[in-house]
Amino acid sequence: MILEKVGSMPENKRPLTWVEMAPPAPHGDDLLVKVSACGVCHTELDEIEGRTPPSTLPMILGHQVVGQVQGLGPDAHRYKPGDRVGVAWIFSACGVCRFCREGYENLCLDFKATGRDAHGGYAEHMTVSERFVYRIPEFFSDREAAPLLCAGAIGYRSLHLTQLVNGQRLGLTGFGASAHLVMKLASHLYPDTGIYVFARSENEQAFARELGAVWAGNTHDTAPVKLHAIIDTTPAWKPVVEALGNLAARGRLVINAIRKEGSDQNYLLKMDYPSHLWLEKEIKSVANVTRQDVESFLALAADMRIRPEVQEFSLSEANQALLELKERKIRGAKVLVL
Ligand SMILES: [Zn+2]
Ligand SMILES: [Zn+2]
Repeated sequence: MILEKVGSMPENKRPLTWVEMAPPAPHGDDLLVKVSACGVCHTELDEIEGRTPPSTLPMILGHQVVGQVQGLGPDAHRYKPGDRVGVAWIFSACGVCRFCREGYENLCLDFKATGRDAHGGYAEHMTVSERFVYRIPEFFSDREAAPLLCAGAIGYRSLHLTQLVNGQRLGLTGFGASAHLVMKLASHLYPDTGIYVFARSENEQAFARELGAVWAGNTHDTAPVKLHAIIDTTPAWKPVVEALGNLAARGRLVINAIRKEGSDQNYLLKMDYPSHLWLEKEIKSVANVTRQDVESFLALAADMRIRPEVQEFSLSEANQALLELKERKIRGAKVLVL
């Protein structure tokens, strides 16, 4: 399923086109991977609608890929045909810039993203360097593992950036695939932490309570207590302003979004310094993931025996899955199963 041109989803409800192509040839230390499952991520909407457009077109999207090694480039030695591997958002990083050297390959000056700067997993095959794939713990099926590779890994990084201490109160604004994994992860790592969820739809609020939130309300609601940290996974601005109002002194808001949509940007004018920012509140964003984030999260998820809620689609139904995501028809993670 290829993206040929960038444009808004309401105008073009079928942005991806089904085409037949020869499988790519693995060069250097590449693996040829036969894709069995690929998660559908909100970032694909940002690529399709041009907020973070592909670096070349046409492009095969998809960065939460699970599959089997089917072929090896001449310099690939770490895996053998038949091995199961995963591919995440980080397709490559240079390894020599100052960010790479300091452990921040997610900020690499030459960061390349799977499915944006190189063909990804909305296809039967893809190639990827053996240095940028992961072994998937036995515990997970292919389709369960797929959403862990983005939503889970970046959720893990977001949670780490909150600097939360066990027992402190955590808020989540937005309750999609990333947030519901963060909720499970936070309950495991911080057993005495109460989790407060802000979500627009009553379905999402009910789902949050099912998963153990001590409180769930609308985006603009005031939580019964002030919170130490909040993670925002929405594409909008209203949740940012409202979250700041729910933070305690020294509280930190971590924005887990690659881009924000512009439709409600005026809401930022409602920002009131004394109630939203004063008292040493902080705002921080999270960008991309490192290989370490992905590996740590996969190991932790297997330990915790997380079973992601998955909604399956076939590859040819990719447009429908994306449209449902656009319309926020969300319960768990959408996965293309090949
Ligand atoms: Zn993603
Ligand atoms: Zn670098």
